[in-house]
Amino acid sequence: MSDTKSSVLLIYTGGTIGMKEDPVDQTLRPFDFGSLMEEVPELHKFALRIDSYTFDPLIDSSDIEPSMWQQLAVLIRDNYDAYDGFVVLHGTDTMAYSASAISFMLENLGKPVIFTGSQLPIGRPRTDGKENLISSVEIAGAKRPDGSPLVPEVCIYFNSLLLRGNRSTKVDAAGFDAFRSPNLPPLAEAGIDIRYNNDIIRRPSGGKFKVHLDLDTRVSILKVHPGITRQVVEDILLGSLTRAVIIETFGCGNAPSRDWFLDIVKESVSRGKVLLNVTQCLRGSVNMGLYATGRALKDAGVVGGGDITTESALGKLFFLMGNSNDNETVKAGLETDLCGEMSK
Ligand code: ASP
Repeated sequence: MSDTKSSVLLIYTGGTIGMKEDPVDQTLRPFDFGSLMEEVPELHKFALRIDSYTFDPLIDSSDIEPSMWQQLAVLIRDNYDAYDGFVVLHGTDTMAYSASAISFMLENLGKPVIFTGSQLPIGRPRTDGKENLISSVEIAGAKRPDGSPLVPEVCIYFNSLLLRGNRSTKVDAAGFDAFRSPNLPPLAEAGIDIRYNNDIIRRPSGGKFKVHLDLDTRVSILKVHPGITRQVVEDILLGSLTRAVIIETFGCGNAPSRDWFLDIVKESVSRGKVLLNVTQCLRGSVNMGLYATGRALKDAGVVGGGDITTESALGKLFFLMGNSNDNETVKAGLETDLCGEMSK
């Protein structure tokens, strides 16, 4: 008899969800995945086949490295045909970075990849981890009447909200309502039912699923602020080991208009570096045509990032630069919406 049940691969990378208090120094440290499953017997009630894979070593997500994104992408590639969906248990601190990067690495994704985690370890009575995990598994296995996956995207599920991964950001260090996608409504909200926002869920374009593993990490981030010094701007924008810089600007893409600042920007561009303008604001978009201070950046050759998040901009640059040595190609890619990361 053929097995028609949906199947989900649960990938455990670490993070608070699977941590336990060290009896000696009371710090939170990862524990083994077998115990995690014991804590959530509800998972066995789904008409789903759930298999699991545990990263070794398990990590606090503050230690995440692009090599682990590559490991994760390979794992999904190698298991792509065997499962209907994937749930990635991941620490919350860098979850938005990982979900963003993975969204670029998995081209023409046709299956759900749902990142989730928790603010309280799953063994604690008041944990948020159980609901996050259970609903993520349900979403990863959910299908449309024609049998195709309901949400074929890289997402973050947290505290009843399903968010597009490359639009998400962590907004609360301690509260359960820890993630938002300020420039895109949730893809789904879980209440008594899970209500899907089908109008904005992306569908595969029909292209072949392809995993990109080449990442070029020569990116820095410059956050402008009142009082920023020439030395700091020079160090970051002219650093010889940096190929691209994300400039986090004020409001709709504005930066100091002092001559020395613009001269360094121009020098950086003339050295062939890619400069990307993203806003420090949670909501809204870079528009370098609005104020003279933004216009000057545009005239100097800075690329506008629209409403992309910093987390997503970082993953997009790693991916684009990993796939091309030509910075003009990288700039053109930055201005293109590749997988729902920016509004048109
Ligand atoms: N430091 C933890 C991590 O990101 C926090 C969490 O999981 O919420 O791995």
